[in-house]
Amino acid sequence: MYDAIEHILFDETEISNAVNRIACSVNNDYENEQLVVIGVLKGSFIFLADLIRKLDIDFTIDFIRASSYGENTESAGNVRIISDISENIENSNVLLVEDIIDTGYTLSYIVDYLRGFSPLSIRICTLFDKPCKRVIPIKPDYAGIVIDDRFIVGYGLDYNEKYRGIPYVGVPKFDPKK
Ligand code: 5GP
Repeated sequence: MYDAIEHILFDETEISNAVNRIACSVNNDYENEQLVVIGVLKGSFIFLADLIRKLDIDFTIDFIRASSYGENTESAGNVRIISDISENIENSNVLLVEDIIDTGYTLSYIVDYLRGFSPLSIRICTLFDKPCKRVIPIKPDYAGIVIDDRFIVGYGLDYNEKYRGIPYVGVPKFDPKK
């Protein structure tokens, strides 16, 4: 157990099962189609790495990074793109891969931004979803695990850029709002 973790919420097996379920649906939905998988940095990189190794369809990978929280744990809604995609996604099917959706500010901003490039379709995939915290009504097409209102770290999810490498997902001992 890592020092900063009070208790484990989802262990490696539970996470892997959720990733497998999502991969299965994505494989079915995009059979015989070209796909651009866009990871939302930084939090999604571990989930994305595990997910794409379960895909048996044709895809390319790109990344986008938006800032929202900074060092806070609540999204303020002042989202901006700080690292853009590099692929041409015009007329492509896009699968946006996110670690967690909370208020929805970040993803709805990114979806609107990407729509400006005229993709054929955009779907949203998230490993964790906190629908109870939603401010902007955005619904993921694929959601691995639904959680209630709590702050989690591990498996790519950080607190002040730390704890991303923890292989499971847990609740920190410290109060993330302080
Ligand atoms: P939203 O814009 O939906 O409020 O926030 C999305 C982003 O906030 C996620 O990509 C993630 O970086 C961060 N976030 C939201 N909830 C949590 C959480 O419980 N733990 C961590 N570590 N980050 C979170």
